[in-house]
Amino acid sequence: MAGKVTFREERCKGCALCVEACPKGIIQLSKRFNAGGFNPAECVNEEACIACGFCARMCPDAVIEVHRVDR
Ligand code: SF4
Ligand code: SF4
Repeated sequence: MAGKVTFREERCKGCALCVEACPKGIIQLSKRFNAGGFNPAECVNEEACIACGFCARMCPDAVIEVHRVDR
């Protein structure tokens, strides 16, 4: 099962809880800044996502949505 991960980037506070939660290690904080002045989380290898949803469940600010996709 593969996943597509989307971020409501402007809501991200860069707390990195999702980075810690991902069993595949494919979420990192960007070097860019969002509108709030935080480094937003992003998925750096969507091909490796298994759609477990841990990242979305961990996020305190409902930034992340995970969708299952067929590849
Ligand atoms: S759904 Fe799972 S594998 Fe995919 S980015 Fe989130 S925590 Fe990582
Ligand atoms: S858990 Fe949510 S707020 Fe924290 S870095 Fe990840 S996406 Fe951003």
